[in-house]
Amino acid sequence: MRIDLHTHSTASDGTDPPAGLVRVAAAAGLDVVAITDHDTTAGWDEAIAARPPGLTLVPGVEFSCVHHGEGGRRISLHLLAYLVDRDDPAIAAEWARLRTSRVERAEVMVARFVEDGYPITWQQVAELTGDGTVGRPHIGRALVAAGVVPDVDTAFRELLSSRQRYYVRKADTDVFDAIAMVRAAGGLPVFAHPIARRRGPVLADDVIAAMADAGLVGLEVDHPDQDAEDRAHAAGLARELGLIPTGSSDYHGTNKTTPIAACVTDPQSWERLAALPSAIRPVDDSSPAIVGGSG
Ligand code: AMP
Ligand code: FE
Ligand code: FE
Ligand code: ZN
Repeated sequence: MRIDLHTHSTASDGTDPPAGLVRVAAAAGLDVVAITDHDTTAGWDEAIAARPPGLTLVPGVEFSCVHHGEGGRRISLHLLAYLVDRDDPAIAAEWARLRTSRVERAEVMVARFVEDGYPITWQQVAELTGDGTVGRPHIGRALVAAGVVPDVDTAFRELLSSRQRYYVRKADTDVFDAIAMVRAAGGLPVFAHPIARRRGPVLADDVIAAMADAGLVGLEVDHPDQDAEDRAHAAGLARELGLIPTGSSDYHGTNKTTPIAACVTDPQSWERLAALPSAIRPVDDSSPAIVGGSG
């Protein structure tokens, strides 16, 4: 069994449409794949409709969160919400708020680039985003298209990181509110790349313990942005706190260099996760033709 529990489509900042994503997953030999676009469930229906036989699809969302620590220290983080009820009014409204905030912040970021003479436009970024949730990778692609940087990764290092003057925050959800919302909507919250140091500051262990107390069910241990030492630490924390250790590629198509299934989840972990009660079930060959509601 090969299981990848974190991937992105064009519904957010991946480059494969949801139907292409499930085909890529099957072609890579995966048995289980989760679609986890940023702050949206918009890719679910297309992925479900295009699911190749034999592939189990786990509908999910990657929820943009923040933790306000001591001294007002603000740490942004991502919470994966699996098998959640997308029609839950509170969580649907919160994700809509986040998507609006993403558009507003991307517009301000683009305006800062334009002000400094970079040859990109908001229209171009909007076109690259299509119907998806806008993110910094879309601005990165506009910078690549304009010949400013050779690739999206360089754009992140030189222009888009939170250390750069072009960076603007988005209105992320407090992580403890987010955990409560996911649980209230019948979803399974898993902390994505908890120790991805290359992305910025990470949460202290005692905050992760408090998240476990608040209803977190898993920790992403094997992730391309976590080195061996960080993975070992995350695995130890998961054991100590009774959290399910997971693994994933965080595949973004050609917006990142990581291939799908670059990291995977242990079958035992997947069994533990799938055994938990949730609002909806993974979609497989035995599922009824129509799953879930609308939206
Ligand atoms: P945002 O959600 O708009 O703040 O942008 C963060 C997104 O950019 C995350 O989904 C990351 O997966 C992606 N990202 C972060 N670093 C890189 C990188 N070096 N290359 C491509 N994408 C990245
Ligand atoms: Fe992303
Ligand atoms: Fe993430
Ligand atoms: Zn992700």
